[in-house]
Amino acid sequence: MTSARLTIQADRPKAADGPLASQGDPWVQVWVEAGREGQVFTYANPDGLALASGDLVRVPLRGRRHVGLVVETLQVRPGGLGGVTLVAIEALHQRAAVDGQWQGLIEDVARDCHTSLFRTLKSVLPPGWLGQRPAKAAAAPRSRIWVALAAEGARASTSGQGLSAKQQALVDQLANQGGGAWQAELLASGGISRSVLDGLERRGLLSKEALVFQAADHPNRTSRLDLAPSQTLTGAQAAALGQIRRAPGGQSLLLWGVTGAGKTEVYLQAAADCVAAGQGVLLLTPEIGLVPQLLDRCRQRFGAAVAEFHSGCSERQRIDTWRRCLAADGDPLVVVGTRSAVFLPINTLGLIVLDEEHDTSYKQDSPMPCYHARDVARHRARRSGARLVLGSATPSLETWQTCQGPAATTELLRLPERIGGRPLPPVRLVDMRLELEDGHRRLISRPLMQRLGGLAERGEQAVLLVPRRGHSSFLSCRSCGEVVLCPNCDVALTVHGRSDGPQWLRCHWCDHRAEITDRCAHCGSTVFKPFGAGTQRVMEQLDKELEGLRLLRFDRDTTRGRDGHRRLLQRFAAGEADVLVGTQMLAKGMDLPAVTLAAVLAADGLLHRPDLRAGEQSLQLLLQLAGRAGRGDRPGEVLVQTYCPDHPVIRHLVDGRYEAFLAEELAL
Ligand code: ADP
Ligand code: ZN
Ligand code: ZN
Repeated sequence: MTSARLTIQADRPKAADGPLASQGDPWVQVWVEAGREGQVFTYANPDGLALASGDLVRVPLRGRRHVGLVVETLQVRPGGLGGVTLVAIEALHQRAAVDGQWQGLIEDVARDCHTSLFRTLKSVLPPGWLGQRPAKAAAAPRSRIWVALAAEGARASTSGQGLSAKQQALVDQLANQGGGAWQAELLASGGISRSVLDGLERRGLLSKEALVFQAADHPNRTSRLDLAPSQTLTGAQAAALGQIRRAPGGQSLLLWGVTGAGKTEVYLQAAADCVAAGQGVLLLTPEIGLVPQLLDRCRQRFGAAVAEFHSGCSERQRIDTWRRCLAADGDPLVVVGTRSAVFLPINTLGLIVLDEEHDTSYKQDSPMPCYHARDVARHRARRSGARLVLGSATPSLETWQTCQGPAATTELLRLPERIGGRPLPPVRLVDMRLELEDGHRRLISRPLMQRLGGLAERGEQAVLLVPRRGHSSFLSCRSCGEVVLCPNCDVALTVHGRSDGPQWLRCHWCDHRAEITDRCAHCGSTVFKPFGAGTQRVMEQLDKELEGLRLLRFDRDTTRGRDGHRRLLQRFAAGEADVLVGTQMLAKGMDLPAVTLAAVLAADGLLHRPDLRAGEQSLQLLLQLAGRAGRGDRPGEVLVQTYCPDHPVIRHLVDGRYEAFLAEELAL
C-alpha cells in the first residue's frame, strides 16, 4: 500500500488566505470520526498548512473520507509509527474550538455521558457548521461601506478644481455631513451614481472602507454613551459581588437570593469586571422565554459586546456567534443563551452564570449526549479558570449539598431580602374540600373569584397558574383529598388507557397496576375522579363567571415562534389584560410591578406527580410563582387552591422555609 497522494485544499475563509503557506507543523494528530474511541491518528502536513488544535479537517481513513478534529500539531515526527502508512490531511475545513481546554471539555462530557467524542462534538457545534461551505461562511457577517472624504477631497470642496458638477455636489454633501456617509445611503438617495463615487475614489479624493458588523448590531445603534449605568448595590449585593471577586479561578458559588433580591444586578456587575479585564462571559438561562429580558438588560449595559445563542436563533445567527467567539482578536463577548451555549468556544472565559440553576430544563434528555449544563459548566470553570455563579431563589438539592460541611466545593452567597425591603407576599390557602362541603363545585373558588373581580378597579394584575395537563392524570377525592398511591413506591398512580375504552391505574416506577375506582377508599365519597383542567377550559370558565375580566393565555400554544414569549409578555406588561392564565412557564423570571396576585388553580396537579423529585420541583415552582407577586410598590399576595392543605410541600410553601424542606429531603 502506498501512501495516499498528498492533496491539500485550503478552504479557509478569504482573510486567512495570505499567510497560510508554509507555517504549520509538518505532523498533525487528529481524532477521526470513524476511529476507535479516544484513538488519535497521525497525518502528514507536507504543504505546511497552518493548522492548529481545534481545526476541523477532512482526512482519509480506510479508503474513505471522514471528519477529524486536530488535537495537536507536531514539529517532529512522533515515534512508534513503524509499519503505519502515513497519509496526508486532505482538506481543511472549519475551526471548531480555540484551545486544548475546550477539547478537554468535550472529552469530559463524552466520558460523563458514555458516548463518543464525535457524537458529542457534532451535537455541540451549531447546526450547519460541518456542512458549511467556507465561501458562504465568509459572507456571514454583514459589511457596509463607509465613504469618507480624503484630505485632498476636503480641499477640493472649497477650491472646486476640475470636478464635474455631480462630483462637486457629492464632495459638498460629504463635507456638510461631517466628512463621511454610508455608500448604500448615498446611492439610495438618488442623484449620486456609483461612477461618480468611483471617479472620485480613483482621483484619491475620497476613500472607501468596508466595515464588518455582526448581524445583531446595527452600525448606527450602539455607542458607548447610550449604555445604562450600573445600579448602586445594596449591602448584601455588594458583599456577594465582593465574594465573587475574591473567589479563585475555577470556583463555584451559589448565589441564593429570594425572588426580587437583585441577583441579576450582581451578575451584570461581575460580568462588567470580566469585560474590563478582557475576559468573556457566559450568561445562561434555562429557557428561551427568559432570554429576551436578560438580553435587553445586557445590551443596555454592554452594547455591541453582547451576543446570543439558543434554539430560537436562526442557524446563521448561531454560526455567527460561534464565529465571533473563535475570532482570536475579538473583544470580550458577553453571550446570553440557553444550555447549548455552555459549549461556546470563548477563549478567555472569566465568568459563567447559570441563572435559575435548579431548573430541570438545563438537562438535555435527548438526543445524546444527555448532559446537564450545570455539570458541563463546572467542568468548564475548572478547566478554564472561570468562576461559576449558580443563581436561584430555590437551589437544587444537589447544589445545596455541595455547599455543606467542611468538604464543601461551592461557596454560598446569600441575598436574604428583596430590593427596597419589600416583603415576600404571604401565602393564603383555599381548602377546596370545604368549598365542596358548601356546595361550591366550580374550578374557581369563591375567595379567588373575589380577588380576581377587584383587580381591574385597582389597576392591578394577576398571574394564574394552571399546572400542565400531562401531570394531572391521577385520581383524587374531592371530599377528602385522598389520592391513590402505589403501595410499593408511594407515588401517585396515573390513569392509563383511552378515554373511550378500558382504563387502569399504573405506577410510573414499578409498573404496579390497579383497577380504576370511582369511590374513595378513605371516606366513601363518590366525587372521586381524574384530576385537572387545561388552560383553555379555565379561560372559558373565567370568561363565563367574571364578565369583563380581560384574559391572556400563556402556554405553549400561544407563545410559538421566535418572539412569542416576549410579545405576549409585552402585551400583558402594557396592561392589555388583567389576568395572565398559563402553565409552568408563568413562574419564571417575570418582573412586572403591577402584578399583586399570584394564584394556583390546582396545586394538587403538582403535588401528585409520578416522580420521586416531585416534592422539590413543586415547591421550587410554587415559590417561584409566589415571587412574581408584589415586586412593585404595592404588596402582593399568593392564593393556592388545594385539596391537600396538609401536604408537606404546601406546609413549607406557607412557612416560606425552603431550606428546612431541603434538609428534610436530604434526610430522606
Ligand atoms: P432577581 O433576579 O433576584 O429576582 P432582579 O435582579 O430582577 O431580582 O431585581 C429585582 C428588581 O430590583 C429589578 O427591577 C431591578 O432593576 C431592581 N434592582 C436590583 N438591584 C437594585 C439596586 N441595587 N438598587 C435598586 N434597584 C435594584
Ligand atoms: Zn375521600
Ligand atoms: Zn410503584
